[in-house]
Amino acid sequence: MAKTGLVYDERYLLHDPGPWHVERPDRLRAIQQRLATSGLLKELILLEPQPAPLEWIARLHDPDYITRFQRACQKGQRIFDTGDCGICPKSFEVACLAVGGVFAAADAIMAGRIDNAFCAVRPPGHHAERSRAMGFCFFNNVALGARYLQEQHGLERIAIIDWDVHHGNGTQHLFETDPTVFYLSLHQNPATCYPGTGRQKEIGRGPGQGFTLNIPMPPHSRDQDYLQALEGLALPALRNFKPDCLLISAGFDAHQSDPLAHMDLTEKGYRDMAGLLGDLARDHCAGRLITVLEGGYNLAVLGECVLEHIQVLRSL
Ligand SMILES: [Zn+2]
Repeated sequence: MAKTGLVYDERYLLHDPGPWHVERPDRLRAIQQRLATSGLLKELILLEPQPAPLEWIARLHDPDYITRFQRACQKGQRIFDTGDCGICPKSFEVACLAVGGVFAAADAIMAGRIDNAFCAVRPPGHHAERSRAMGFCFFNNVALGARYLQEQHGLERIAIIDWDVHHGNGTQHLFETDPTVFYLSLHQNPATCYPGTGRQKEIGRGPGQGFTLNIPMPPHSRDQDYLQALEGLALPALRNFKPDCLLISAGFDAHQSDPLAHMDLTEKGYRDMAGLLGDLARDHCAGRLITVLEGGYNLAVLGECVLEHIQVLRSL
């Protein structure tokens, strides 16, 4: 049985994007509650995050952008950059803590304290571009985690698997010319879903060509469609890449009961996908696997999916 870490901090609840917003603090409360009532919580190693230092965030984000975001929060602005990015005075600090959460998981794995980890962080990150907040995201948590594993811990090749129903435009763009980070996304066909990027022909640029793999899925794809795509296309590409660590950008908004998109995944589909990626991490990455929460907006479903995902991590 694997030693599984959980990154969580009550300060993650302090990012308030507005009362109308679906990316709300209750998402993490639902996860915590489900983990507690199931009894799983006490089996996990709780990792306490520190805010990521700004010089680390500046490895992938424009320093002017970082300052602009900080000032917007200090000034009490309620929206930053794009209409769906609601903020409050605490948002900057919480966003730094979300990045720091992924760093804490990386540190614990590389120190051998844990085998794998789930980062229950918010705000999410995969839509965040170098100089622009979008899609509820401000700093790209998973991308910064990949860079941190490379620069702080000396890993060479990192694979990011993004199964959020929306394409992770930010993560793709940050690494599209980089052959050391493989970005692989399964998402709802961009012609029918936010943010509109992630077409099959987007495969990376220059030296990064061939290190981005987009697998757009038609609306109402089901468990077996996702599993087929994973087994037929994604896993062979990942095995070929031979990553040193696997990062999952885990949105649970492709679930059939999620309000934001049009996919028909169930808890079982998510569990089976985690199992396949867990096996891959065990075979190729010495078990190193960090899951970072992205979307998922049906609270009951989110709690259940995360519980089952962490059960899979524990079973590896
Ligand atoms: Zn999403």
